[in-house]
Amino acid sequence: MLVLGIETSCDETAAALVDDTRAIRGELVASQLDEHRKFGGVVPEVAARAHLDLLDAIVREVMQRAGLTFADLDVVAATGGPGLIGGVLVGVTTAKAIALAAGKKFVAVNHLEAHALTARLTDDVQFPYLLLLVSGGHCQLLVVEGVGQYRRWGTTIDDAAGEAFDKSAKLLGLGYPGGPALEAAAKLGDPTRFPLPRSMVGKPGCDFSFSGLKTAVRTAIEKAGAHDLPDLAASAQAAIAEQLADRTARAAKRFTQEYPAGKQLVVAGGVAANATVRARLAAVAAKHGLDFVAPPPRLCTDNATMVAWAGLERARLNMFDGLDFAPRPRWPLDATAPKVAFAGV
Ligand code: ATP
Ligand code: MG
Ligand code: FE
Repeated sequence: MLVLGIETSCDETAAALVDDTRAIRGELVASQLDEHRKFGGVVPEVAARAHLDLLDAIVREVMQRAGLTFADLDVVAATGGPGLIGGVLVGVTTAKAIALAAGKKFVAVNHLEAHALTARLTDDVQFPYLLLLVSGGHCQLLVVEGVGQYRRWGTTIDDAAGEAFDKSAKLLGLGYPGGPALEAAAKLGDPTRFPLPRSMVGKPGCDFSFSGLKTAVRTAIEKAGAHDLPDLAASAQAAIAEQLADRTARAAKRFTQEYPAGKQLVVAGGVAANATVRARLAAVAAKHGLDFVAPPPRLCTDNATMVAWAGLERARLNMFDGLDFAPRPRWPLDATAPKVAFAGV
């Protein structure tokens, strides 16, 4: 089975080919960094136009480089949401057009499910697994019981982890995109220098909160000088990583009790590219007897390989979508899962 995946939900225009031997037959990502940098963030209308300009060429290029044509495909998958609706519309419409013209099946992929299932492409990951999904718009702890089957144990009550990186970076004058810039700036810094808030650490449950960190970074900057930048960046990164590790440790404890068959802790989403975050989570996994799995950084940030793979996982279960699928700006991962009362850990 060969699947073409298309990703256009934010500021990456991407296409990729994945087959059912878990081989990546081609992948291309065009980041619209230059378009958005002057605005200090992603501008939805600018993004939608850029997707429209770039996508056809990206798809053609990925097919050509792989030496394949649309006739070789079995399935065309595109991110159907959640995301910036203009971009999603461009990707979904293109995918439908290819599927219709070439007589192939279509799958509308939930972008979060694409992040969530990536580790099953890159590693031998079995259901059920514990997932920390940390991206630009989301920060959640979930049990992945199967394709389309998620139980959410925790979420952020304000900012996402990626937002915490981006906003801290912006306050520090590191520009956009903030996460990688802050990680680079933190390299030579002392993470213990500034005691920034770890809002939910030690609290019951598995929720997150990052808005206090943002305020504290702002206050610290006012007192600090330019030479303090590496220490501030390292301290902010440490505060984020510690909260992620603390919440994940609570979920890991609960997971090993409620899912004795589960053996793996997986991290996904753009923040999973961060080496400090990965190291803290690896330690949490080890402490709770779980294997730690993190996809390679390029598959943590937005890409189409994860969309093709999620499309393939769905296609194997005959979970196709009709050409009448309407893009969804909001699309919670656990929307179809029954609610579970929090048992406390
Ligand atoms: P979502 O997936 O929630 O819809 P998104 O698609 O915009 O949001 P991703 O592309 O998955 O998000 O992740 C982007 C986020 O990851 C940004 O906030 C970015 O700063 C952060 N990020 C990327 N690389 C790193 C890094 N090395 N360290 C920390 N954060 C990072
Ligand atoms: Mg992006
Ligand atoms: Fe994403």
